[in-house]
Amino acid sequence: MGKQEDFVLRALEERDVRFVRLWFTDVLGYLKSVSVAPAELEGAFEEGIGFDGSSVEGFARVYESDMLAKPDPTTFQILPWRGERPATARMFCDIEMPDGSPSYADPRHVLKRQLAKAADRGFTFYTHPEIEFYLFKNTPGPGEEPEPVDRSGFFDHTPQSSANDFRREAITMLESMGISVEFSHHEGGPGQQEIDLRYADALTTADNVMTFRTVVREVALSQGIWASFMPKPFTTHPGSGMHTHVSLFEGDQNAFFEAGAEYQLSKTGRQFIAGLLHHASEISVVTNQWVNSYKRLLAGDEAPPYICWGHNNRSAMIRVPMYKPNKGPSTRIEVRTVDAACNPYLAFAVILAAGLKGIDEGYELPREAEDDMWTLSERERKSLGIQPLPGSLQDAIGIAENSELLAEALGEQVFDFFLRNKRKEWEEYRIQVSAFERDRMLPVI
Ligand code: GLU
Ligand code: MG
Ligand code: MG
Repeated sequence: MGKQEDFVLRALEERDVRFVRLWFTDVLGYLKSVSVAPAELEGAFEEGIGFDGSSVEGFARVYESDMLAKPDPTTFQILPWRGERPATARMFCDIEMPDGSPSYADPRHVLKRQLAKAADRGFTFYTHPEIEFYLFKNTPGPGEEPEPVDRSGFFDHTPQSSANDFRREAITMLESMGISVEFSHHEGGPGQQEIDLRYADALTTADNVMTFRTVVREVALSQGIWASFMPKPFTTHPGSGMHTHVSLFEGDQNAFFEAGAEYQLSKTGRQFIAGLLHHASEISVVTNQWVNSYKRLLAGDEAPPYICWGHNNRSAMIRVPMYKPNKGPSTRIEVRTVDAACNPYLAFAVILAAGLKGIDEGYELPREAEDDMWTLSERERKSLGIQPLPGSLQDAIGIAENSELLAEALGEQVFDFFLRNKRKEWEEYRIQVSAFERDRMLPVI
């Protein structure tokens, strides 16, 4: 047993931990959890805990369903909302097959494989997500429009607001679990919040996004309100994105930084962006995986429906932020398509795959877009050579089906399951009769 495992076993005793939750994530990005008694952990570290993989979305076919969850001791944390003594802890798991090989259906493994590909080229991949979400007064009922907790807007400081109390408690909890928060503020929509996590290697941030969603929803429930990461809960208010800032490091050098270059952006950085733009439509089904995701992208409100980049253009899909132009080595790329309801492991994996492809193939970066995309006419946009992103989940699936890059990045099993599941979602959606149709037609025809 290694040092980290020993540390966990000691912590279990010292902190009087009675339950250990083993966490993993299904292919669609839902958190799964199995609780084990502390006495089981030594065995779990050595052999894993067996479970029926065929009951987890996208994990296994029924005839090969035995799987093992093996806890990663570096992710051990006490769950602050479960009380101090006795305590409940959690660890993220890697999923293995009975022969000890990694499960190809495990999103954490998909990301690890892509990170290893980056490492072969000497790179470490860092991400920093800005997570947006809404707070509602109560649990949304079927067919009801939810009611936001306040009527405030971007950066508003509202005295005695429930949102302030909410953010303070959520951030305190995140920090106590070792997740550093960089900023938080009220976002543009009523009841909409944003909390930005400090950058870290992509596996850590993907785990952190999963923990974040759980903490946010737990804190909301404890305050009698409801939190949701749905990409576009209202027709008339902005959606919830998860803009993700990315960078590649070589050792402690930021590979996207070049002193004196335009926007201090190195050739590697330019090629990475070129890769993201080139493959944007193919990876869209992962960065924006729901029927509802495309309603956010199409609606404006600072969500980007077109494939372009700009150094300070919030209508562009990719932005190179220049907050502190003299603080060179913090050069990074902000990917603005990603939404708050993605599977963070898969989203980071496909972003990295597209960027690395740009580097491997030496793609040229197209000219930057300086105009506000939302005000250009279709003709103007076409004359600039700027293409739209897929306009619906159906379009995104159609493009994804033919993508070698996506099949390779996700691996055959996740690729097949994912597209099958998404086609089903689209089929179910397209036969729904909506309030839009009824309101338009019943009164007049
Ligand atoms: N809520 C917007 C989105 O859906 C982003 C607003 C912002 O620029 O932070 O992407
Ligand atoms: Mg924001
Ligand atoms: Mg942003």
